[in-house]
Amino acid sequence: MNGPHPPSDALVLFGVTGDLAYKKIFPALQATARRGNLNFPVIGVARSGWNRDQLLERAKASVTEHGGLDPAAFARLESQLRYVEGDYRDPETFRRVRAELQQATRPTHYFAIPPSMFPTVVEQLAGAGCCDDARVVVEKPFGRSLESARALNQLLLKTFPERSIFRIDHYLGKEAVQNILYFRFANAFLDPIWNRRYVENVQITMAEEFGVSGRGKLYEETGVIRDVIQNHLLQIVTYLAMEAPSSMYPEAVRDEQATVLRTIRPLNTEQLISGQYRGYRDEPDVAKDSKVPTYAAIRLHIDSWRWEGVPFYVRAGKRLKMTCAEVRVEFKTPPPVVFKEPAPAAGNYVRFRLSPQVAIALGARVKRPGEEMVGDPLELSLVEGLEQGKGGEMDAYERLLGDAMEGDATLFARQDAVEAAWAIVDPLIRDPHPPYEYEPGTWGPREADRLVAGVGGWNTPE
Ligand code: NDP
Repeated sequence: MNGPHPPSDALVLFGVTGDLAYKKIFPALQATARRGNLNFPVIGVARSGWNRDQLLERAKASVTEHGGLDPAAFARLESQLRYVEGDYRDPETFRRVRAELQQATRPTHYFAIPPSMFPTVVEQLAGAGCCDDARVVVEKPFGRSLESARALNQLLLKTFPERSIFRIDHYLGKEAVQNILYFRFANAFLDPIWNRRYVENVQITMAEEFGVSGRGKLYEETGVIRDVIQNHLLQIVTYLAMEAPSSMYPEAVRDEQATVLRTIRPLNTEQLISGQYRGYRDEPDVAKDSKVPTYAAIRLHIDSWRWEGVPFYVRAGKRLKMTCAEVRVEFKTPPPVVFKEPAPAAGNYVRFRLSPQVAIALGARVKRPGEEMVGDPLELSLVEGLEQGKGGEMDAYERLLGDAMEGDATLFARQDAVEAAWAIVDPLIRDPHPPYEYEPGTWGPREADRLVAGVGGWNTPE
């Protein structure tokens, strides 16, 4: 999609030797080259004491491990890759970045670096004259609280206008998440029932079978609410709950998302059940008395005309029974006056499986053959079991990188939305209650069932 601003003419990748660059950014750049879109130099910056050849080796290992080496596309990436070695605290590093930019005047600076380095890098970039007409891409976590997110926004806004700041939430770049938006507003049958009169509750589950995978130190500072709820899951809530945007113009979509976040009541600890998997405290770099939650289930209230009284349940956790992300919008059951069958366990619903496969399905009841007027639940699959990445679609990072280079901010989080999301969860991250312990391989602490007692329990993905 073309943005309203001219495309960037160079990508400056801070943190080029880091984990994120290895896992996501090099594969995205090779994919961009494969589509014939790598028409700009990529200037990697880090301080590992490497030379360009070592960086190329690293890039090759990255694409080989993540998706496979494509020799022609990689050759294109190689021809575009430049390397600047140096510490971010040293102004000389930025003079070299300036020199490597050569004729480029509209760079995108990608901060794949620890957030603690943001102020230094912004200041140095400004000092070296690299900020005029530039964009900046910042990775999560975008702050650790409402206060720190505000401070970070203020810092960035001193140097870059809001339209040049691209806050990545890679969930928004996922094809399946985009499909929520499309499915809602491309189908006339849905809108009349997508509201408090017909929807009983909405449940969003993001489950991971794995634990902290050796990243205990990082996780101790994060916990599940900061890691996935404040960002990914609240963004999904906005797509499910927003009003129709006037168009796909970036600000039209982002205005509606921000409105949803502003109408969600700040949470209190009664709306939260947090958990920690047994064994978390034995992970490397995790405190023996850690209270960091690896699981959280919350109940959200959206104070809007459309959603008043409809609970939105969001749960996420590590070491759960399976790895998957799913949304289920459950409709109210019809009055039990016509048929004398017992209240059905599963009624009408829309189910979006977001990962690892992509699916969209509608739940309905149909009559069982025979004399009796009793029925069974049936699922109508609209999209079924499509493996992510198998439909020729772009990986989220390829998509988001391309959009940032083009200046299209639709899939990036705006300042007001980020701050509104923090305002919702802020009271929870200061929750003094210790999390409930749960067994690895389960669906989390039993206590979480209390939250959904009024709506017949969790709709657990299969
Ligand atoms: P790493 O620690 O793996 O990489 C950090 C990078 O920053 C390295 O390239 C490092 O260079 C460079 N760096 C740090 N300090 C300096 C300095 N003073 N001067 C020069 N270079 C410096 O971090 P990640 O890649 O894991 O994370 C980067 C960002 O992305 C973070 O904000 C993180 O929260 C975010 N993120 C990461 C994800 C992931 O899966 N890894 C997922 C989502 C977000 P060197 O190695 O040479 O020291």
